[in-house]
Amino acid sequence: MKCTKGGNFSKGELQRFGNIELSPSAGVLNYGQGLFEGLKAYRKEDGNLLLFRPEENAMRMIMGAERMCMPSPTVEQFVDAVKATVLANKRWVPPPGKGSLYIRPLLMGSGAVLGLAPSPEYTFLIYVSPVGNYFKEGVAPIHLIVEYELHRATPGGTGGVKTIGNYAAVLKAQSAAKARGFSDVLYLDCVQKKYLEEVSSCNIFVVKGNTISTPAIKGTILPGITRKSIIDVARSQGFQVEERLVTVDELLDADEVFCTGTAVVVSPVGSITYKGKRVSYGEEGFGAVSEQLYSVLTKLQMGLIEDKMNWTVELS
Ligand code: PMP
Repeated sequence: MKCTKGGNFSKGELQRFGNIELSPSAGVLNYGQGLFEGLKAYRKEDGNLLLFRPEENAMRMIMGAERMCMPSPTVEQFVDAVKATVLANKRWVPPPGKGSLYIRPLLMGSGAVLGLAPSPEYTFLIYVSPVGNYFKEGVAPIHLIVEYELHRATPGGTGGVKTIGNYAAVLKAQSAAKARGFSDVLYLDCVQKKYLEEVSSCNIFVVKGNTISTPAIKGTILPGITRKSIIDVARSQGFQVEERLVTVDELLDADEVFCTGTAVVVSPVGSITYKGKRVSYGEEGFGAVSEQLYSVLTKLQMGLIEDKMNWTVELS
């Protein structure tokens, strides 16, 4: 789907996956005017497909587009395009329990622009791919290292929207961590280097007794849709959930730590290394709390329990 600056997106069309043509001076290539989303489709036992809260992805893209000076598809255009793309690729959705179809909507400044300015033209497209687990550990515990020098987001920057530059910003720290055998990096606030923010591609939760805490959204953390859903699921399961400033030292005292995201779903954290210390939360698998939340969320997403929240969208 295409759109000029200040205009509305045209009706989209389905195309075979392949390279796209871009001007070397496209806004996305030169000035980073790009946003993306990520969501999944699961196959049910009866063969129908389930999307999870696609209108939330649409709303996050609209919010991000405003920050990046881009027009965006409406919620209806976004969700309709996701449905059409998934249905056209139905045969690629793995059987129940064998993975999911990852859906990647992209919005970019595709028009040519030489001096620094918003692009004169925009393209919205969606591609899909079958996926299994995100971390090589599967749903086994992941191992994080706290990063003190490099930051993914700064106050007033674009850390709270899903723009492509945020991912370029984490590549160095993430590659270094992986080379040292860690699964990913845990970022801190860049002012006091004291408060937890998030991991390169997921949000973080800290469990202590019946209380589950997660960093509050304040512009430098991506407002994860899984995060938001897990907060509701946890409350419905009787946990107390706090969205607040969470200090890095609270990691020392936590019973369990877990990450959430579309790709990682709910992943237990086995250890966090910081200031040279390795804090371990159990190497065996899920803790009791993260296991309970993982179980409820995945059953909801796969249509195995009643969807009282009305979060899933069924396609046949
Ligand atoms: N933080 C970052 C930086 C991410 O890239 C993602 C993945 N979209 C998340 C958190 C989790 O967001 P969601 O639950 O919407 O996938």
